[in-house]
Amino acid sequence: MADSNCIFCAIAEGRIPATIVHQDADVVAFKDIAPQAPVHLVLVPREHFAGLNELTPDRARLVGRIALVAKELAEAQGCAANGWRLVSNCGPDAGQTVFHLHFHVLGGRPMAGKMV
Ligand code: C5P
Repeated sequence: MADSNCIFCAIAEGRIPATIVHQDADVVAFKDIAPQAPVHLVLVPREHFAGLNELTPDRARLVGRIALVAKELAEAQGCAANGWRLVSNCGPDAGQTVFHLHFHVLGGRPMAGKMV
């Protein structure tokens, strides 16, 4: 179920532009509009829910699908050998700004030793 006020629902439905790098029945991935690394992708489920605090057993399969798409995209972007990061910010203290579950794929620069 989409939320008409949610920017990531709008991207997933093609109502606002984004550079889409993957889409299927469950998951949409696009280039982050303000990249924090040479490779910075955002992966979202088509289903709208705010974040990991709203994860339920029914939705657990979706997170596995997102992780698999993340791995495939990281490989396609050339990050597999040197490493990459999969991050989901959950809630205000984590810096979450868009309240539709999403995962960041970050790569293309060294991040070892730094959490962000
Ligand atoms: O984890 P957080 O909620 O902070 O991340 C939201 C991300 O969505 C940001 O990195 C922001 O640049 C990205 N974004 C985007 N396109 C938009 C709005 C936000 O890529 N239209």
